[in-house]
Amino acid sequence: KLRVLSGVQPTGSLHLGNYLGAIAQWTAAQDTYDSRFCIVDLHAITVPHDAKTLSADTIDAAATYLACGIDPAKASIFVQSHVRAHTELTWLLNCITPVGWLERMIQYKEKAVKQGDSVGVGLFGYPVLMAADILLYQADLVPVGEDQRQHLELARDIARRFNDLYRVKRSKGLVMREPKALILDAGARVMALDDGTSKMSKSAPNDGSRINLVDSADVIARKVKRCKTDMGVGLTFSDPSRPECRNLLTIYAAVTGGRSAEEVEAEVGGFRWGEFKPRLAEALIAHLSPIQARHAELSAEPGYLYDILRRGAEEANEAAEVTLEGVKRRMGFVLPK
Ligand code: ATP
Ligand code: MG
Repeated sequence: KLRVLSGVQPTGSLHLGNYLGAIAQWTAAQDTYDSRFCIVDLHAITVPHDAKTLSADTIDAAATYLACGIDPAKASIFVQSHVRAHTELTWLLNCITPVGWLERMIQYKEKAVKQGDSVGVGLFGYPVLMAADILLYQADLVPVGEDQRQHLELARDIARRFNDLYRVKRSKGLVMREPKALILDAGARVMALDDGTSKMSKSAPNDGSRINLVDSADVIARKVKRCKTDMGVGLTFSDPSRPECRNLLTIYAAVTGGRSAEEVEAEVGGFRWGEFKPRLAEALIAHLSPIQARHAELSAEPGYLYDILRRGAEEANEAAEVTLEGVKRRMGFVLPK
């Protein structure tokens, strides 16, 4: 069975981009693959974070995974920091990763400029931690949004470098598997509501730029009403000068059953914005309300969530230790006898 690993950072409430780009793929993956989904809290502290909200955000992410359909009977759900091997493997991989590889990372450049001189070493090393997350479970497939493609390439490069550097004949220890990104055609890059050229993000300061999965019907309706549009006539996917139009149609297609562009254009292509927006808001509310109902139920049962996370961490720890030992053996460490 192929192995799958993915995660979301507990840096705030999860949004439509996280859902359509990543989590919606996970629910399909768990039926077919040996799947693990983690809440990557160690990644969340690579930007200035609020110690008062991290734990609540972490538990909320777990509730959201389950509400979106991740099933603890089919997949392990765990908190990254509960499996210490993530941190340990990161160090080992740090020592074989050239600085130049990290300097090319787009996400680092984008996030670092926002922080000026105070940018932390952790943000620079973020992609190595992500590689460790994946390689630790020898994952074959990593379902993520388009913005993570470059980090996945790096994880492959690191795996290959490890295999090249420690290619000792007949030695014990493991060969790293090279992971592949699983990226959808539609929904892989949901754009912000206030700017069709930048991606929807948890960390964007304007809450109106995103639809949070837990936004109430009123809030969704208001955000859609206020979202950026254009002066174009009719609605189309195919005009590159109308990124907002393409984005809102893509969202509409996704939340009305993953319909094709042709089908959606046939339905609303002749609409004015004033006609389309209420229809989009309605579709979003209809799609998200069952998720929200489950989320509310789960949030009232923290004991249940902690239980799932404990079992997930136990399972993950066991798998992770095997890899870590194999890596250390290959690298020449003395292992305790
Ligand atoms: P942050 O702003 O803190 O980086 P984020 O919104 O980018 O938050 P992440 O936790 O970094 O969310 O990413 C979790 C997953 O969601 C990743 O697989 C990422 O590719 C995916 N993702 C994030 N934003 C989008 C988006 N706008 N469209 C599609 N997928 C997305
Ligand atoms: Mg991100």
